[in-house]
Amino acid sequence: MFALVDCNSFFASCEQVFRPDLRGKPVVVLSNNDGFIVARSKEAKELGIGDLQTFFKVKHLLRKHKVAVFSSNYPLYGDMSNRVMQGLQSFSPNIEIYSIDEMFLSFHHMPFNLHDYANKIKNQTWEHTRIPVSVGIAPTKTLAKIANHAAKKIPQCQGTCVMDKPHKWEWYLRRIPVTAIWGVAKRLARRLEPLQIHTAWDLASADPKAVRRISSINLERTIKELNGTPCLTLDELQPARQQIYCTRSFGKKATELQPVLEGISLYAARAAEKLRAQHHLVSTIHVFMHTSPFQSNYHYVSDVIQLPYPTDDTRQITAAARQAITQLYRPGHAFLKAGIGLIEITDRQHHQFDLLCVGQPVQTDKLMRVLDCINQQQGKGTIFIAAQGINKPWYMRQQYTSPQYTTKWQDIPVATC
Ligand SMILES: [Mg+2]
Repeated sequence: MFALVDCNSFFASCEQVFRPDLRGKPVVVLSNNDGFIVARSKEAKELGIGDLQTFFKVKHLLRKHKVAVFSSNYPLYGDMSNRVMQGLQSFSPNIEIYSIDEMFLSFHHMPFNLHDYANKIKNQTWEHTRIPVSVGIAPTKTLAKIANHAAKKIPQCQGTCVMDKPHKWEWYLRRIPVTAIWGVAKRLARRLEPLQIHTAWDLASADPKAVRRISSINLERTIKELNGTPCLTLDELQPARQQIYCTRSFGKKATELQPVLEGISLYAARAAEKLRAQHHLVSTIHVFMHTSPFQSNYHYVSDVIQLPYPTDDTRQITAAARQAITQLYRPGHAFLKAGIGLIEITDRQHHQFDLLCVGQPVQTDKLMRVLDCINQQQGKGTIFIAAQGINKPWYMRQQYTSPQYTTKWQDIPVATC
């Protein structure tokens, strides 16, 4: 049996944890740069505020209904996600973190009442973190996703749904479109139409061979999963990321070299930090910048740089990225975005040293450890490379950010008794 635990309106729920006055009220969270709406509480959805709507277009509607608006506060969401996930690990030793707000658990030969267990997961997570979750339990991962869908959509389910018998999932699959199934996008659904496949149940009862002819083995597997035969297992160990990208839009388009350089230095430092966290070294980096694709004479430039030796030194990576940007830069363009990718990375443990090249000095390792340590304890960006600039006028706009309640000393809430 698999359980899929999904946090409800996750980013909006995180904002409500430390603002209990906003519970039961409409809340929206904006994308980087305050451009779009990326999360809505249930109450905001009920007001008809759509997903990914442009912020300024609905600003009047938000004001009229007194909707609480927040810029995205990823340090807070990341930390709350960790707390939820850690709590969930007490329910099963076999877990897969599927996304920032979703986790699969698997249970084998555990004789217990699944309904009670689903409720326990939901209630304990709420008690420990104040994040509301929905729980779907079924014999396969695909059905667990469906069960979770039902847990959210059917009010009588009250946030949990167990689909342990074929008649239960058949009832629901008959009532939802094929696109509600995990991995069935609109484009694929259009190709299924000639086979008279419209509902999820149509797909579950389709001839796998006929379906295979117009799609791939994956869909054949989905059909099996929809019938209760597990084909997908848990990826119990999350592989380390093979490439690390850090790319952002500038808050204000950059028409000079300086802001681009400061931006790329910041992104390089972020990427290097992630690299060290997974104990890897990088030997090749990719830097790029471009103007808005919606404007005429779109300008995109990029370069790939080989570093002298595999490293996780922020200074080295930053210097290489800055040099590349300086060479790529041509005046007369308004750059919207820049980014860096660490594209060839190797495990620190297994990397091969070069006989002729000295490699990264031990002092660098120590320095980077100190840097990470200070920034972890005192908050992100406490110490940084001066090349990132101090005032950062180019930095993305985030006007409505909530405090970093759980990851920054200064922002810890104060309780007065
Ligand atoms: Mg969710």
